[in-house]
Amino acid sequence: MQLSAQTPPVRSDYQRGWRRMLVDMEIPGWEQRFLSEFDAGAMADLYARAGLTSVMFACKSLAGYCFWPAQVGPEHPGTAGRDVVGQTVAALAERGIAACAYYSVIFDNWAHEHDPDWRLEPVGGRRRTGTTYDRHALCCPNSPGYRDYVRGQIADLYGRYDVGAAFCDMSFWPAVCGCRHCRDRCRSEIGAELPATIDWTDATWCAFAAARERWIAEFQGLVTDAMRAARPGIAVHHNFALGPVHWVQGVPFAVTEHSDFLGGDLYGDATEQLVVTKLMGNLSRSRPVEFMSFGTVSYSEHVRLKTAERMRSQALAATAESSACMFIDGIDPLGTANARLYDRVGATFDPVTAFEPHLGGEPVEDVAVYFSDASKVDFGENGAPLAERNVRADSYPHLEAVRGACRALQRAHVPFGVLTRRQLGELERWRVLVLPNVVRMDAEEVAAVSAYVRAGGRVYASGYSSLVETRGVRHDDFMLGDVFGVELAGEEVGRVAYATPATERMRALTDPQRELSWDAPRGSLAGGLLRLRPRAGAVTQTLATLSLPYGHPHLGDMDDREWASVHCSPPWTDTGEPAIVRARFGAGETIYSAHDVERQQFDVNERLFAGLVGDLLGDAWTVRCETRPDVWVSVFDHADRRTRRIALLNSPAALVPRTTLRIRPPVGARFEAVQELPSGRPLAFETEADGTARVTLGTLPELTMVAARWGGEQA
Ligand SMILES: [Zn+2]
Repeated sequence: MQLSAQTPPVRSDYQRGWRRMLVDMEIPGWEQRFLSEFDAGAMADLYARAGLTSVMFACKSLAGYCFWPAQVGPEHPGTAGRDVVGQTVAALAERGIAACAYYSVIFDNWAHEHDPDWRLEPVGGRRRTGTTYDRHALCCPNSPGYRDYVRGQIADLYGRYDVGAAFCDMSFWPAVCGCRHCRDRCRSEIGAELPATIDWTDATWCAFAAARERWIAEFQGLVTDAMRAARPGIAVHHNFALGPVHWVQGVPFAVTEHSDFLGGDLYGDATEQLVVTKLMGNLSRSRPVEFMSFGTVSYSEHVRLKTAERMRSQALAATAESSACMFIDGIDPLGTANARLYDRVGATFDPVTAFEPHLGGEPVEDVAVYFSDASKVDFGENGAPLAERNVRADSYPHLEAVRGACRALQRAHVPFGVLTRRQLGELERWRVLVLPNVVRMDAEEVAAVSAYVRAGGRVYASGYSSLVETRGVRHDDFMLGDVFGVELAGEEVGRVAYATPATERMRALTDPQRELSWDAPRGSLAGGLLRLRPRAGAVTQTLATLSLPYGHPHLGDMDDREWASVHCSPPWTDTGEPAIVRARFGAGETIYSAHDVERQQFDVNERLFAGLVGDLLGDAWTVRCETRPDVWVSVFDHADRRTRRIALLNSPAALVPRTTLRIRPPVGARFEAVQELPSGRPLAFETEADGTARVTLGTLPELTMVAARWGGEQA
């Protein structure tokens, strides 16, 4: 029995601080000068110099070495006899900096060498990548011996030192493991041999994929329980960075039960930070969540620093979203660090400090984008031998659609959140739900969405949403077909297709284009072009019809006449079949698009998607903003302060001379004052007939906060 899921989340001093750093200590032990100059006091001085509130410090390296006098496992030869962990805990406490003790699993060269029975054995053999990744040696979380080792080491470490917070890194599958322990569990739990072929329409494959996600969640639970057993009251979090990543890494969103809050290190663009921060915000058992990233340009770069502007943008974006921000540094082989980076981190965090007392609150989200952890797959992999495809892909169709949807909503300044199945029981809190090409859904999700719309909810859905059941069943029609108001007539190969607007509103949304282009996604079941037909008895309006190029489905070449223009494939035949349909269902409404228009980052796609979602939202909005599209608008309610707080992020800084904000008060309330934060400077505002406050802002700095306070005694 696992304890971790049953206890309420623990709040630590570490989590309460907003400005954080971690220093990785990934130095091996075979050179006697390695880490010889490490000085815990000098490092703590650097942390203080950077103005940090919270520090995560390494207790163990991925090479397997411990930085304390370990009773279980090897002590690092370069620090042996110095108890770096103990010295660091003391040095941080002296400086009033909250501490979190970093531990790591699965990636452990020493343990891999120590006992062959502990080894992770990738199906198809270990792939060499020609990168530093080849330096890692891996252990299997299903190996009973390795699990005992981890338990013993955690008991030793966390039992010994008085720390309020613990972090566990690397608890994911580096690859699909085919060791005897994994094969035994597969046989006993799903009643079949470990499948040799990837197939998301095969029940055995899907059962195996679900099992290995369960095993990672169970392993995270084992780690959390061991940490809590060693030090009752400790706050634990696991790195969630791999949660949104391709299925090979096997981290289900259910792992959130084993973390008191979520954090993850990210290396992508600003949209990734926005999507993952919002995902963690609604998934985490407590807030704030933690955005982590290196101060260098990547985790595999030791010298080259990010620009000061990039670091500031990341820190201000975290602040705009009310998440904590961590920069990561890597220790030099001798154990020293580049002090100038800590100066830069300090300068980066400096503008954040004044906002900190105003952060937190409950996110206000008019629109919800659904992120499905069952959909971290690509149907293009179906039929591939596992031994040849046992490596994670950079992306997958659902993620691309989620990213596109979030980016379009951000640019339209619609307050939105990212939901998961954790919110299935409370969907009515959101006015509009977006299902962005949710390629696998289960009966519980289908029932929840159906009930939500029947009761008055609004849904935008696209692509394969609800066609394939998570247990591995490809249905002939959408499971939500009655809700969408259409039937699936078939699927075929189509490289290019077009949606031709059928209403004035659609023509306005796509103007000055006459049609909307659609390119087939990378992975598909049977070609990716979905053909629809009206559903008998459904109350629908066709918003756009499917148009096809001359010669469809042939691309055409010099030997045939299956093309109409030599460089491109213009629309030729309008099929008259629905491509985008609006339907009434119960008291609610849906828009279903066979084309995942939100996936592609083109101006017209963004405009059309945001326009359709805006039509579903209707007059039920909370905040509207006219400003430059790049500006992020995030809204939080602080009921205890009777305040609705709006953050406007304009970073990297651009000239935005004028911004208009319209803010609606909660039902029955009326705004009495609008202030700029953190200055408290009153802002002039007009009140519209329905109580909406209208505020006009002058030139935007990189981060602006506006607080609208409604009437009554302030708590
Ligand atoms: Zn294994």
